[in-house]
Amino acid sequence: MLHGKVAIVTGASRGIGRAIAVAMAREGASVVINFTANESAAHETLVAVEAASGQGVVVRADVADASDCEKLVRTALDIFGKIDILVNNAGITRDNIVARMKLEEWQSVIDTNLSGAFNCAKAVMRPLLKQKSGGRIINLSSVIGQAGGAGQANYAAAKAGLIGLTKSLAKELASRQITVNAVAPGYIETEMTSVLLEDIKSDILKQIPLGRFGLPEDVAEAVVFLASERAAYITGQVIAIDGGLVMQ
Ligand code: NDP
Repeated sequence: MLHGKVAIVTGASRGIGRAIAVAMAREGASVVINFTANESAAHETLVAVEAASGQGVVVRADVADASDCEKLVRTALDIFGKIDILVNNAGITRDNIVARMKLEEWQSVIDTNLSGAFNCAKAVMRPLLKQKSGGRIINLSSVIGQAGGAGQANYAAAKAGLIGLTKSLAKELASRQITVNAVAPGYIETEMTSVLLEDIKSDILKQIPLGRFGLPEDVAEAVVFLASERAAYITGQVIAIDGGLVMQ
């Protein structure tokens, strides 16, 4: 589905980002595997990408830093000569109730989860427009951005902001056949959710109509589809991948 395409996946050193990188490689894409802290994990993703018969390269960049994002895009262009797909997946949590939330906890989540996507989208825009061959931007939002979450005001605000960014970018870029969509995963089994207490997990599980937590691969399948030519007439949408948790 992605033969000959070049994709940048931010935060691809583990979890959902790794699953997306591998799924894209399996579909024929060359993948730029971004990370910021865990280089050895990013190299494990590269091994998995190569095992899926794909080509990949590991590039360190902090998405919260606009100049890092420009360097990330420049490296992708130097190595693969073009960019077709950007997946804004990098994300962090710094949970706390608002009454106790420090400004740093608020700001770091906004900087990484929301400004990070803005920085990367801005950096890919010029090459995408210059190439005149369309393109795909896919943003990782969350059910928490749609429904809110106690103790997660920073994360919810960033993920809700990503939906507004997605729709605005979709309108700005549609005339150039660049589609921009978001996915809103529910509870997916990764390091990010491994910190949840068992009783909270079992409460959440009871609310999921499909009766299980999601896997990174469940998200990757939808992202690959949105990145493909098969999704050419879909833009500005938020696709829930949550086992039916939030039905709108
Ligand atoms: P993980 O915590 O497992 O992985 C996060 C990834 O983001 C890592 O590869 C990490 O790289 C990278 N990262 C963090 N900060 C930065 C940064 N500043 N610059 C570049 N990369 C960075 O998260 P998940 O796989 O669970 O989540 C992936 C995305 O999906 C996130 O945006 C998350 O909010 C979203 N999501 C997750 C859900 C879930 O249930 N897991 C539900 C809904 C949405 P490194 O290790 O090198 O720092």
